[in-house]
Amino acid sequence: MSSKSETVIRIHGAGLQIGREAISVSNDGATVLLDYGVLMTDRKPEFPERVTPSSINAVFLSHAHLDHSGGLPLLYLRGGPPIYTTTLTAKITTLLIEDMLNISRYYVPYEDLELREMLDHVHPITFNQKVHVKGIELEGINAGHIPGSLMAKVRTKNSTILFTGDFNTTDTRLLAGAKVDLSDVDILIMESTYASTDHPERSQLERDFASKVKEIVEGGGIALVPAFAVGRSQEIVSVLRAQNYDGPIYLDGMAREAAKIMKGFPKYIKNYDEFTKVMKSVRLVKGNRERQRAIQKPGVIVSPAGMLRGGAVMFYLEHIIKDHKNGIFLVSFQIPGTPGRVLLDTGKIAVEGKLIDASDMTYFYDFSAHSGRKELLDFVKQLKGGAKVILIHGEPETTKAFQDTLRGMGIDAVAANNGDSFTV
Ligand SMILES: [Zn+2]
Repeated sequence: MSSKSETVIRIHGAGLQIGREAISVSNDGATVLLDYGVLMTDRKPEFPERVTPSSINAVFLSHAHLDHSGGLPLLYLRGGPPIYTTTLTAKITTLLIEDMLNISRYYVPYEDLELREMLDHVHPITFNQKVHVKGIELEGINAGHIPGSLMAKVRTKNSTILFTGDFNTTDTRLLAGAKVDLSDVDILIMESTYASTDHPERSQLERDFASKVKEIVEGGGIALVPAFAVGRSQEIVSVLRAQNYDGPIYLDGMAREAAKIMKGFPKYIKNYDEFTKVMKSVRLVKGNRERQRAIQKPGVIVSPAGMLRGGAVMFYLEHIIKDHKNGIFLVSFQIPGTPGRVLLDTGKIAVEGKLIDASDMTYFYDFSAHSGRKELLDFVKQLKGGAKVILIHGEPETTKAFQDTLRGMGIDAVAANNGDSFTV
């Protein structure tokens, strides 16, 4: 049990891995849990270290992605602690967890009942709102990652901790980048997904992407964009319209529902009027007949899954792969082992059981929703002297190399592993 004068931070998940994020902060008899995610390998979910729900006084949920939210229903088998998050995050989390249950129900150790119980415990908060949990203060701050995403400033009786969740300091079409005052932060718990990679300059990236898409469509082809349902799909559509692509755009799969939910939350969209205008110009694909129609003419089709692991995009892929005047546009990091990564690395993709060479029709544009290496370094540089950095949510090599870079700059940094505890 932590005393008044010390704060204990424990890494339950996301130590040296991207997935199943879960951190607890304890001080003077109170404990808050920051995220409780899942790691999906094939269809089998892996969860963070077990926690006892009765020992948790409150949960803070940074955003809806399953690697941050997908384990939470496990805490609600019998009652459970309050969850502080945005209403938008709660709604999108519901969409994503229901989808996971549909696909992997057999492997997931909870059911709809626990999801409902969890939702009953949501206490909505918004940007810059503070709540108090038995002497620990939680403040939600815009994280710029996906609509509704938050970071948390956690103030205990002896320290101020900033938990970034996933974050992006760069403005995108959809979101304002994260801006945080780090001057009072003693401990920074930071994601390191892109700690070894610099992102391309955003406006140039947008122009390059749009001009390639236009070239394909003007040449009579279909530009297929496999994209994540939440955030990325809507961002891609917004980028194309902003770059004056005025041809047809179809939006399919869970990206449609996510867009509909987002429309109800103007506060979490940077330029809401523009967003609604763009969404009105997009055709939402409802069912098979419209799907057939979408592949008849040149245009853009945006559809999950972003790494070609199932979803509506597979229908389109089977069709467009037959004609090499079409294009496949990968617009996010592809996790090793996914069909999207195999396509990127080898130019080959399995369609109807056959491996097909699509190297001359595959394009990659790095539209990330995470801070890149330069942004992470700029962020850390704002810390006061003597502050500690705990790195999580990154591949082992990337995270350790970034730890060494920070140590070289005289910063007390550690690439944390699962099961590590830090007492301050
Ligand atoms: Zn995320």
